[in-house]
Amino acid sequence: MTSALELPPAVTARAPAKVNLELGVGPRRDDGYHDLATVYQAVGLHDDVTAAPADEWGCTVTGRDAGSVPTDEGNLALVAARLLAERSGARQPVHLSIHKQIPVAGGMAGGSADAAAALVACQELWSVAMERDELDRLAAEVGSDVPFLLHGGTAVGSGRGELVTPVLAQGTYHWVFVPVPGEGLSTPEVYAAFDARHEGRRVSEPTPGAEVMSAVRSGDPSALAAALSNDLQPDAVALQPRIGEIIGAALEFGALAAIVSGSGPTVAALASGQEAAIDLAVSLTASGAAEDVLRATGPVHGAQVLPTPRLT
Ligand code: ATP
Repeated sequence: MTSALELPPAVTARAPAKVNLELGVGPRRDDGYHDLATVYQAVGLHDDVTAAPADEWGCTVTGRDAGSVPTDEGNLALVAARLLAERSGARQPVHLSIHKQIPVAGGMAGGSADAAAALVACQELWSVAMERDELDRLAAEVGSDVPFLLHGGTAVGSGRGELVTPVLAQGTYHWVFVPVPGEGLSTPEVYAAFDARHEGRRVSEPTPGAEVMSAVRSGDPSALAAALSNDLQPDAVALQPRIGEIIGAALEFGALAAIVSGSGPTVAALASGQEAAIDLAVSLTASGAAEDVLRATGPVHGAQVLPTPRLT
């Protein structure tokens, strides 16, 4: 039997945000989801989730946009932890402390990142041995982006995005993310606008583009810039015209390309290198075109446990 003293007091895991290098959207399915052909890249903006044994389930949120994140049973990290507990038989409740760096409701999958981090942290805390496939399936029940955030790197997402296949990618890409001030965009709202725009027209099944695949294999940011695409961009821009202005400003200040990240409203601008990314970030804020910018590189690892600090 394991004594209480041998149990880790808490486990912290870190998970990245994502950007969709390509987001091809198919017709609306009977279950309300859309078939997607997407290429994800995990980028170095992270949320940390600490799971600690507790008398009852709960969570607290600190950091960026913390006030707009639910702390009740609607929190995706808590949903994920409870589902893992149910499936693994580890019934000990945890308190999750979430520290956010990823903009909320920005199209960068922050909630899904927290779910991925919670799964990894709780798996370690409860010593749950689960096959990768099984964990992926459980993650997909929590949200379409969660399996990718467990994997990280660069990957193709199919189905509703939950079926993840790693892609051979070279090089490091330098991104400048511009969170659009004000309310975020709700993903269902953007998909509803996509459906309305295609009303009465046939939407074809999306297929991952060969162009983006060969671009990430080449490691050349200019090739990737030419291949970036997002079928939801017209809808996100129509809902929040400020997005279009920010994309225009990013291009004017030297971005190789700028697109809406996922369902938006965050704008993802690709720079040619580190110096160019710094220049772009400075120009966007100094000119007043953006209130706030976040720089990050990709690809990065998926969710992983952070080493526990040694007590001396
Ligand atoms: P996606 O692109 O995955 O649809 P997003 O990046 O646009 O999502 P999120 O930051 O994941 O947006 O948040 C979407 C909504 O999910 C928020 O408005 C919030 O109410 C809810 N939510 C639930 N749990 C979390 C969490 N841990 N962090 C952030 N938002 C959460």
